[in-house]
Amino acid sequence: MIKLDFVTAIAIFLIIPILFVFIRWVFYNCYRNEGLDYQSDYLQQCPYCNYLFFCYDNASMRECPRCHSLIASAEDAGKEEGHDKISEKDPQ
Ligand SMILES: [Zn+2]
Repeated sequence: MIKLDFVTAIAIFLIIPILFVFIRWVFYNCYRNEGLDYQSDYLQQCPYCNYLFFCYDNASMRECPRCHSLIASAEDAGKEEGHDKISEKDPQ
């Protein structure tokens, strides 16, 4: 039979749950951002009403669910950065 004094028994019963919580916390912090990165690819913000919504299709134009505005995808908006589309279309 294993002989333990009272202090050692209390220390063992305290260390085991603390180690369990610490290991769970480490794994939680290591793997919690994978889902967010995956989800943030589909996160879209309407530039007109600032409404955030998820859009899972790969269409070039998306529609805001709140104000029903048509929004270009992030890739298309990046290509047009620095250019004023209205002045290009305007003949004057
Ligand atoms: Zn909107």
